[in-house]
Amino acid sequence: MIQSIAELCELIQIPASALNLDKNSSFSLKVPQHFAKQIEAKNPQDPLLLQILPDLVEQQQNIAFSLDPVGDLKANPIDSLLHKYYGRVLLIISPKCDIHCRYCFRRHFPYEQAKKTHWQEALDYIEQDKTISEVIFSGGDPLSLSENILIDLIQKIAKIPHITTLRIHSRTPVVMPTKADKTKLLEVLKYSRLNIVLVVHCNHPNELTKDTLILFNKYKQANITLLNQSVLLKNVNDSAKTLEQLSKKLFSQGVLPYYCHLLDKVSGAKHFLVNDHQGGVLLEELRKRLPGYLVPKFMTEIAGEPYKTQLKDFK
Ligand code: SF4
Repeated sequence: MIQSIAELCELIQIPASALNLDKNSSFSLKVPQHFAKQIEAKNPQDPLLLQILPDLVEQQQNIAFSLDPVGDLKANPIDSLLHKYYGRVLLIISPKCDIHCRYCFRRHFPYEQAKKTHWQEALDYIEQDKTISEVIFSGGDPLSLSENILIDLIQKIAKIPHITTLRIHSRTPVVMPTKADKTKLLEVLKYSRLNIVLVVHCNHPNELTKDTLILFNKYKQANITLLNQSVLLKNVNDSAKTLEQLSKKLFSQGVLPYYCHLLDKVSGAKHFLVNDHQGGVLLEELRKRLPGYLVPKFMTEIAGEPYKTQLKDFK
C-alpha cells in the first residue's frame, strides 16, 4: 500500500515539485500497488493518477459543494444504517477503503459510526421492517474487512426470512484484486440462499487488468451477478471514446455497466465536475456507439428524493 507521496512519485517517475500537491490533506493519499502500477510513468495527467492525487485545488471552497451532498446523515435512523429507498437498506459496515478516491462523496462521512457494535442494532431494524428485501453492504469498502467478519454478518442476514438479496458495493476487486479474492467467502456466497449482486467500481479501462479478469471469473463461478458503477470525472473518463472502451472491456471481463454517476457535489471535488449538459451529450454519443446493454444509466442522486434520477439524452 502506498501512503507516502515520495514513494508514489518514485514509482510514477514524476518529481513532487512538478505536481500541485496538498501534502497536509486530512483525506490522505492511499493507493494500492496494483492500482499504482497501472499509472503511466512520467504522465502527470494520467487518468488513474488524477483520481488519487491530493491536489491543492481541493482546498477551494464552493457554496454548491458540501460535506454531505446526498443527505446520508438525514437518512440514518440508526448508526451505520441508511434507509433512503423503499425495500432496501444500506449498511456502512467498514470505515476503511483500500484506496482514497479524491472525488468520494463520503470523504467527510463520520465513519466512527461503522462499528461492529452497531450491527446487532442494524440487524434488529432490518428484522422488524418486513418491507425490506435487499441489504446493501457499503462503506468505506466492505471487502476491506476480513472474510470471517463478512461471513458472520452474511449468515445472520440470511436468517432473516424477508431478505432475498445481498448487494455488495466494492472498489477493492478493481484496485486490489488479490485482496478481494477471498476463497471462504466465495464458497459461502455460492451456496447462500440469497441472490448475490456485486457492484464493482471502475472508472477507466486502464483499471482493468489480467488480475481483475481472473478474479471476476471466480465470482462468476460463485453465481454472483457482476455490475459496474463509475463516476463521470472531468479529465479522467469524460470522453465517449473512453466510456465506450470502459463498457467493452468490462463486458469482456464479464461485468455489465450499470450506473455512471454524475459527480455528487462534495467539498473538495469541484475540479472533477462534468455538468448535466456535457453528461447528456456523452450519453447520446455512447448510445450511438454501443448496444443498449453496454450503455450505463447516467444517474444523479438528489438528497431527499425517493429514488435516484436518471439523466436523459441531450436531445
Ligand atoms: S473506494 Fe468508494 S467509498 Fe472508498 S474512497 Fe473510493 S469512492 Fe469512496
